[in-house]
Amino acid sequence: MSDSNPDKQRVIPIISDTTSTTGFNLYASEKLIYPRSVSGYFTNLRWLAVWVTQIIFYGLPWIDWGQRQAVLFDLGTRRFYILGLVLHPQDLVYLSVLLIVAAYSLFLFTAVAGRLWCGYACPQTVYTEIFLWIEKKICGDRSAHMRRDAEPWSAQKIGRKTVKHAIWLAFSLWTGFTFVGYFTPIRVLGAEVFALDLGAWELFWVFFYGLATYGNAGFLREQICKHMCPYARFQSAMFDRDTLVVTYDQARGDPRGSRSRKADPIKLNLGACVDCDLCVQVCPTGIDIRNGLQYECIGCGACADACDTVMDKMGYKRGLVKYATENALANGWSKAQTWRHVLRPRILIYSSVLMAIVLALAYSVHERKEFRVDVVRDRGVMARIVEGGKIENVYRLQVMNASEAVRQYKVTISGLPGLEISSDNLVSVGAAQTHWMVVRAVLPFGAAEPGSHKIKFRIYSIDMDDEESEKSTFIVPIN
Ligand code: SF4
Ligand code: SF4
Repeated sequence: MSDSNPDKQRVIPIISDTTSTTGFNLYASEKLIYPRSVSGYFTNLRWLAVWVTQIIFYGLPWIDWGQRQAVLFDLGTRRFYILGLVLHPQDLVYLSVLLIVAAYSLFLFTAVAGRLWCGYACPQTVYTEIFLWIEKKICGDRSAHMRRDAEPWSAQKIGRKTVKHAIWLAFSLWTGFTFVGYFTPIRVLGAEVFALDLGAWELFWVFFYGLATYGNAGFLREQICKHMCPYARFQSAMFDRDTLVVTYDQARGDPRGSRSRKADPIKLNLGACVDCDLCVQVCPTGIDIRNGLQYECIGCGACADACDTVMDKMGYKRGLVKYATENALANGWSKAQTWRHVLRPRILIYSSVLMAIVLALAYSVHERKEFRVDVVRDRGVMARIVEGGKIENVYRLQVMNASEAVRQYKVTISGLPGLEISSDNLVSVGAAQTHWMVVRAVLPFGAAEPGSHKIKFRIYSIDMDDEESEKSTFIVPIN
């Protein structure tokens, strides 16, 4: 296992010649990044996002709703519990709409302010931030860490790294445990862990998710964003000259150069950039924002915070590196002017469509019936003449109780004169259960012409005073 030695280099493939006989290297080495700690507005925002997302992720499985876990995706019984909702496979449409909402939100936020998701809420960013925080607590900030890594191996160095990896691993496995806790009741899972009695699949997923967290946040870090995440590649299709992105104000910053705090940059023919390199040192992807917008930039704003600190120290105006649009920089717009252009027609259309989808989804969930019925003619049983000279058709009714209480249902039938149910027409269905019932419908002989006739089943929920109806057909055989 490699660790953060500055002399060691990650090896990543680059587009190059496919043979090594030409003298070209097939691989490019990439230096490890030691991001420097930074504080400021965007850093606070990022930590706020870390706290909010992680409190939700780690806390939600421990919250109960009545007698069960509030959020549980029970794959065994194929039922998803989300607070008061019980979703069955037939409700998959809600999940599809949720995915559409997520994708659409991503498009909208990207068009407004670039890689907001990447910089603040993506699990890769969030976990890297947490892992870096642990690393800095144990190995020190950038310079101390680099110095320690460059030192020869010693008991102290081994001790620090062992502690760091032990905490990373423990945190990762807790993350894997929490993830599985969304699919298996987390208290049951916890008891199984303490009894060393985890099922094979649970064990696999705890370790798989845990080790993926350990590998991605501890080692791969920015490599995921740079080389593996597809979003970085197609985001430019959603950008335009009115998209807010982290930008270096070149007109104000150049020519760059160091100077004393008291020196007059105009006399020295210098811009506002003191060339301190702090914006590069804090960058988690190791890029220099002064080279313009690059696909590696995750829009975290760390460079803007670092530069603002420098501007404060120098007594210069903040915002040499800031969120701005290309048009705002080119035209020297004020904040208000910039926002007027950011909220352009495209954004308003995106927002309206998104709002409409969300409202439609909320309405549909609110109006969703607590039970559902499917009627299937029993094709194994032909229409036939039974006792009393009546014609009988047999149906199978699937009654799905999506509520969390036992419910009683009554089935009636209509559509032909004299049509009635000869079997038991009352059924009791357990909480969140599905029940198949056989229903026999009979028609007096001669009451209808031979052939297929449309009929209707009505299923009445006695407890909820609500009903559903389902169409079917009644076959009258030729004599
Ligand atoms: S360039 Fe700035 S905004 Fe972009 S990733 Fe680096 S620190 Fe974050
Ligand atoms: S932090 Fe600001 S002043 Fe320092 S190099 Fe970066 S842009 Fe220039």
